[in-house]
Amino acid sequence: MKITILGSGTSQGVPVIACPCEVCTSGDSHDKRLRSSLLIETASTSVVVDAGPDFRQQMLRSKVKKLDAILITHTHKDHIAGLDDVRSFNYLTGKPVRVFACERDQAEIRQEFSYAFAKNPYPGVPEFDLQDLTLQPFFVGDIHIQPVELMHMQLNIFGFRFGPLAYLTDVNYIPEDSLKQLAGIKVLIIDALRKKIHPSHFNLEQAIAVSNQLRPDATWFTHISHLMGKHAEIEKELPDNMHLAFDGLIISL
Ligand SMILES: [Zn+2]
Ligand SMILES: [Zn+2]
Repeated sequence: MKITILGSGTSQGVPVIACPCEVCTSGDSHDKRLRSSLLIETASTSVVVDAGPDFRQQMLRSKVKKLDAILITHTHKDHIAGLDDVRSFNYLTGKPVRVFACERDQAEIRQEFSYAFAKNPYPGVPEFDLQDLTLQPFFVGDIHIQPVELMHMQLNIFGFRFGPLAYLTDVNYIPEDSLKQLAGIKVLIIDALRKKIHPSHFNLEQAIAVSNQLRPDATWFTHISHLMGKHAEIEKELPDNMHLAFDGLIISL
């Protein structure tokens, strides 16, 4: 299984105009982050978690030519705004793209992309095959997916376990049952927005505490705001087996 961090950033705290801070003006490519997303690939199957505003750029950058499914953690815009661009995959395959989302999130996707679900849609609209996402494990091709419930402030959202790896973005509380489902993971990719506490995301200290509780071999922090500080400087402060994720990072399992 090959895991690629397509994006390790967030819309949270990112100014709309060019930001003069030391992270946004850094020459280090590790400090250039697209919105958070993950690609999971085996020899036969490719799955993406979330399709935020940078989805198209991420597909191009990682040369993704085949997409078997998109898993939706929740429908905040930094996680679904790029769904319109699945049309490229529709052209390639002549088929809709399977999108796994819970009932609530399916309703929001139908509303946000209403033109794609119109009775007589205009030619060229993105084509989605919405599939139910619950806490039941399932397969896409040969990739086993265990959905895990997470809390994103008041919102219950989805994290995912793919065998030895867990991807937990946009979370500030992990219910007890979910912690049990995560027991024994080897690699943890987890939300750590910044150092300062935040109402709907783990900060760095809280994410480190979760890692210390789950004790994976390696932990990568993601959904990182420019308020975190420069990659190279934060790296020096972290325990040996914990790192800031960065765009293009590949983990082979
Ligand atoms: Zn969110
Ligand atoms: Zn987010």
